[in-house]
Amino acid sequence: MECPHLGSSVCIAPDSAKFPQGSPSSWCCSVCRSNKSPWVCLTCSSVHCGRWVLSISLKNV
Ligand SMILES: [Zn+2]
Ligand SMILES: [Zn+2]
Repeated sequence: MECPHLGSSVCIAPDSAKFPQGSPSSWCCSVCRSNKSPWVCLTCSSVHCGRWVLSISLKNV
C-alpha cells in the first residue's frame, strides 16, 4: 500500500510516550515490514520506513 500524502502530511514517528496506544516498536513499514525509523502519515495513518520516504521524495524532485 502506498500513501499519496507524502511530503505534506508525513512525520517521523515520535516517542512512544506520546502514543500510549501504540509504541513505534509495534509499527512496521507497510511496504517492506521494516520497523527502522518509522514514518507515519497524518492523513491515513499508514506507516512507512525512512528508506521508503526517501525513495519517494527523490522521485518527486
Ligand atoms: Zn519500508
Ligand atoms: Zn497518507
